[in-house]
Amino acid sequence: MAKLYFRHGTMGSAKTLNLLAVAHSYRQQGKRVILLKPDLDTRFGKQNIKSRAGLQMEADVLVSPTTNLFDLDLEGVSCMLVDEAQFLTPENVQQLRDIALLKNIPVICYGLRTDFRSKLFPGSMRLMELSDSIEEIKATCFFCNKKSIMNLKHVDGKPTLDGPTVQIGAEEKYLPVCYSCYHHQLESVKKEESLVSV
Ligand SMILES: [Zn+2]
Repeated sequence: MAKLYFRHGTMGSAKTLNLLAVAHSYRQQGKRVILLKPDLDTRFGKQNIKSRAGLQMEADVLVSPTTNLFDLDLEGVSCMLVDEAQFLTPENVQQLRDIALLKNIPVICYGLRTDFRSKLFPGSMRLMELSDSIEEIKATCFFCNKKSIMNLKHVDGKPTLDGPTVQIGAEEKYLPVCYSCYHHQLESVKKEESLVSV
């Protein structure tokens, strides 16, 4: 049985770069790889899987909540790679789990663990529940040198907990931060706001 992998990291942890490197090394050996991403993520144009480092490849499959992944031509596929996996539905994740089991194809999912309110994305929760292997891709806090574990949302240069959960931003909108900086940044805004309202 092939394995299901969840490789999670904060914003800016080079998840997509990691995915593209894996795809490149399979393809260099003449092996067939399928690249998938949720159709929700239209940041860089619909079909592109693009790293902030500048590299990109075209996605083979855009996954919607109603996509049946078993309809794909999986003949001779060595690996399936999923970008922005936090936006998969729990049903998508279940199908990927079943593909690894029944088709014996390893599936590697890259994504965020939690949103900017520190809550698990539903897709990431299901990946945590079902994956054989859960790996953290590490990155450094934007403000100090600790490891980042949270994604802090910034709007107009200020940290906030407001706005929709599913909003894919440019790098200036979501910062990788440690819990201490997450807490203190949000507290500082609260203090500022209470001073203004007095
Ligand atoms: Zn920090």
